[in-house]
Amino acid sequence: MISVAIDGPSGAGKSSMAKRLAADLGYTYVDTGAMYRSIGLYTLRQGKDPADAAAVEALLPQIHLDIRVEEGTQHIYLNGEDVSEAIRTEECGMAASAVAAHPAVRAFLLDTQRDLAARQDVLMDGRDIGTVVLPHATVKIFLTATPEARATRRLAELRQKGQPAEYDKVLADIRQRDYQDSHRAVAPLRQAEDAILVDTSEIGIDESFALLKKTVLENI
Ligand code: C5P
Repeated sequence: MISVAIDGPSGAGKSSMAKRLAADLGYTYVDTGAMYRSIGLYTLRQGKDPADAAAVEALLPQIHLDIRVEEGTQHIYLNGEDVSEAIRTEECGMAASAVAAHPAVRAFLLDTQRDLAARQDVLMDGRDIGTVVLPHATVKIFLTATPEARATRRLAELRQKGQPAEYDKVLADIRQRDYQDSHRAVAPLRQAEDAILVDTSEIGIDESFALLKKTVLENI
């Protein structure tokens, strides 16, 4: 099986580019962030604090996640409910980042993620795919951009969706998520030693995609 691991900080354009590249290559796209977001969403809905390790761990036996590919798009079901859209808020992103720091949560998702890669050719995106989940991935990419470049893109995206947002707040959220993701004790965000760095700070989306695709194809 071929596996392409794409890691990097939030807002680097990972998921949109990974989705497009997976479709081009004919691989299954696996968005591991959606799994953490679903656990974050469930925790918020239960009125619990995502940062409270014991409270979140106690919820895990009640959570059943199902990943289904429908018409080429990954859908995630939380206890039978399609939450693919509901998890896309800033609040869920923050909750995901908090629950993702708990070892029990990571252990809960690890088997599912490895299992998906064992059954089919995958392009998997996340924070720890190249370092922990698939240490023997065929190709590993670390996709990044400066916090300022990511904030500018995120702001444009939010405004396009008609959601009011301010640059300073978006930048502060990005910095906070970067800090949380790279300073946690378990599976922190970091570039694997054998990962190829792709920096998209200075280039647009089409150029970034072309660079990513070229880099992956050259190393498969
Ligand atoms: O990529 P996305 O923004 O959807 O991820 C949400 C959060 O889930 C991240 O901020 C990160 O804390 C966590 N995550 C993780 N490991 C992964 C994927 C996501 O810790 N493989």
